[in-house]
Amino acid sequence: MANERTFSILKPDATRRNITGAVNAVIEAAGLRIVGQRRIRMTRAQAEKFYEVHKERPFFGELVEFMTSGPVVVQVLEGENAVAKYREVMGATNPAQAADGTIRKQFAESVGENTVHGSDSADNAKIEIAQFFTDADIAA
Ligand code: UDP
Repeated sequence: MANERTFSILKPDATRRNITGAVNAVIEAAGLRIVGQRRIRMTRAQAEKFYEVHKERPFFGELVEFMTSGPVVVQVLEGENAVAKYREVMGATNPAQAADGTIRKQFAESVGENTVHGSDSADNAKIEIAQFFTDADIAA
């Protein structure tokens, strides 16, 4: 597959611990390029919309609280097979099950506060990127 883009979030546990650079180093070492990046405070409305697919899940309220509890870094990553590659680099949702060398294995604190988000499909990547970036914010 040729160049592809995916959407990433460095979550509030990453900004709180001042490890965004360390996480970005893992992303770049994996061959993904950070072609868009912005540090923001997510509003409740943004977080609720972003995680809408999980709104019936028992952890939804806690997830929205967490995602709005501090700054996040939203990113567009580009590279060959970027969606699948970033999922691999992130590791399993639950850091206890994440493989060695993955971001979540190295940095995540719990299944909720798990340091990073990455799109799960190319279609969702497009939708998620459009929620936070315009074309002018991305320079490949
Ligand atoms: N999450 C949680 N408890 C759970 C499962 C998920 O708090 O039991 C949170 C966690 O922050 C996760 C996010 O909800 O990253 C989205 O869940 P998903 O299953 O889509 O995992 P991901 O794609 O982030 O690995």
